[in-house]
Amino acid sequence: MDRDGLLRSLATRVRDERVLAAMAAVPRELFVVPTMTAAAYEDAPLRIGHGQTISQPTIVARMCELLELRPTDRVLDVGTGSGYHAAVLSRLCDHVWGIELETQLALGAARSLARAGIDNVTVVDGDGVLGLPEHAPYDAINVAATARGQVPPALEQQLAVGGRLVAPVGGDGCEQLVHVRRHEGGFERERLESVRFVPLR
Ligand code: SAH
Repeated sequence: MDRDGLLRSLATRVRDERVLAAMAAVPRELFVVPTMTAAAYEDAPLRIGHGQTISQPTIVARMCELLELRPTDRVLDVGTGSGYHAAVLSRLCDHVWGIELETQLALGAARSLARAGIDNVTVVDGDGVLGLPEHAPYDAINVAATARGQVPPALEQQLAVGGRLVAPVGGDGCEQLVHVRRHEGGFERERLESVRFVPLR
């Protein structure tokens, strides 16, 4: 599939025009390893080294829709990997803080984002299970690796009131996307479709 083909295919399933525009604005080929450039517009996860993968465009779009981003939002992206998902998020909000455990991937993500001309993403090398308290609270948190059993409590705590979080959560062989919304009085959690991500370590 080429870039136009992927965008046409997404347009049949993604309702939010802003999300479609963000997907159209980010050149995915800048975020894949050089040997994978020809496959950059396949609607599939692709290897990015260190045993990790760049997320599938369909799931990136779906998670962006679920986060209901506004142009003024401050967003935390956990498991930034190649930087692709963070790049799409950055087209929908004010600023993204990306946190990535693998130092080499964090460096690569920062390089790819710069090459794409994106200047509102800050990539931090660290453990995303703990979030990034120094820039909290976040209007939205995107998690791209599967947490075991529950959404890491530190991440929920770093949501602003009214904030949204999406994360894959696994246990007993099944893995589901979980949506969390923080209210004045607590957290509203909803289990959505089955997904497959690499584990959160
Ligand atoms: N969003 C990425 C997908 C990366 S796959 C993209 O668009 O390319 C998930 C990433 O989570 C991997 O890069 C992995 O190294 C990272 N990861 C796993 N556990 C983590 C943790 N505890 N903290 C931060 N990053 C983590």
